[in-house]
Amino acid sequence: MSIRKILTEPDKILRQVSKPVEGVGNEEQNLMRDMLDTMYAAKGIGLAAIQVGIPKRIIVIDLNKDEKKNPMYFVNPIIKQKNSVNSIYEEGCLSVPNQFAEIERPNKCEVEYLDFDGKKQLLKAEGLLATCIQHEMDHLEGILFIDYLSKLKKSMILKKLSKNKPDRIVV
Ligand code: ZN
Repeated sequence: MSIRKILTEPDKILRQVSKPVEGVGNEEQNLMRDMLDTMYAAKGIGLAAIQVGIPKRIIVIDLNKDEKKNPMYFVNPIIKQKNSVNSIYEEGCLSVPNQFAEIERPNKCEVEYLDFDGKKQLLKAEGLLATCIQHEMDHLEGILFIDYLSKLKKSMILKKLSKNKPDRIVV
């Protein structure tokens, strides 16, 4: 197990559409373990494989970050149903460091996926979990939460991100 580097905006790899995996084998399980370690180390509650540069349709989530760990693994997730009622959460993203914005998404969704052992599962998610699943599934399409914001708000965030970079020196 190891901690991998999390790519951040504007890294173009984040804009790739991830590909479905054939099945869950050792390689996928090792990737999921690494993703979980990486996510815990960065104090996030969700991570998609593309965020560590792997364009596979794999997501890990753990909403219990401060309590007992409760990792969830989603391979090839597909949203079967979404509620027409929305909820709003202030979202952040490990690939858009230190930036937050209120995003509206369906408050419930039903998702079909393969679990850590490659078994097919169907989950009815609501609240924070539903939002988190949808945020992570956007990553699989190359979408970031800032894409939902107005042009002005988005450009402000992108500007702030570039300010977060260390100073460039020539010596
Ligand atoms: Zn994210």
